[in-house]
Amino acid sequence: MQILITNDDGIHAPGLVALWTALAPRHQVRVVAPDSEQSAVGHAISLHTPLRVRRLPGDAGDPWLAVSGTPADCVKIAVAELLERPPDLVVSGVNRGPNVGINLLYSGTVSAATEAGILGIPALAVSLDTYEDVDFSLAAQVAARLVDWGGWRAGPGPAILNVNVPALPREAIRGLRWARQALGAPRERYERRQDPRANTYYWLAGEAPPPAEAVSDRAALAAGYITLTPLRYDLTDEAALASRLGAAIESADLGL
Ligand code: MN
Repeated sequence: MQILITNDDGIHAPGLVALWTALAPRHQVRVVAPDSEQSAVGHAISLHTPLRVRRLPGDAGDPWLAVSGTPADCVKIAVAELLERPPDLVVSGVNRGPNVGINLLYSGTVSAATEAGILGIPALAVSLDTYEDVDFSLAAQVAARLVDWGGWRAGPGPAILNVNVPALPREAIRGLRWARQALGAPRERYERRQDPRANTYYWLAGEAPPPAEAVSDRAALAAGYITLTPLRYDLTDEAALASRLGAAIESADLGL
């Protein structure tokens, strides 16, 4: 398979190198990734600045392409312009830090996978549950095994799978679990500080909420399982729509 890999930690991140190392023996792996840290940029794309693409020197085989944009930019420009043909699969990661719960909406790692799905290409997002610069090779191996297994791709439409791997030794990981996205709001606050010129600034701080749902991604990851969450990008609230579809709405109702 031709696999496009990308991330949001930037093209020099060890998680991306680990992913390449795990996938390259069995696949044609192409790298198109942000040239700088893009964590928490969500699904942003660049509209008001041009995208510069730089080939990283010193690579054997296909060059690694560093893009001056977001993860979603990388997938879009790779598919539309940089690759000779669309990839069979996109893998995003391995992210430094978990992507569970509401963080999926902020995550550049997940948004790269979502962008692939929008373009009709199945995709995996893979994250490791630590912010330390530890060994990403086990999480990368998990991604490679999921690629080769392929069972997650069954069903209509291009599959988008979000994967989180505990930062534990192989023997301490309890297995794999399908899990839904946790929904609790993060407990956040802004720390108010002063810079050296006595100007006030603010810095977001806080922590994840305790898992509320028994089978959520956050709970299963905390319990030592690799979590698998199929994603979609259709934001329509089906229940709300269904309850209103039959109800007529007239301009006059809004005073128009
Ligand atoms: Mn990141």
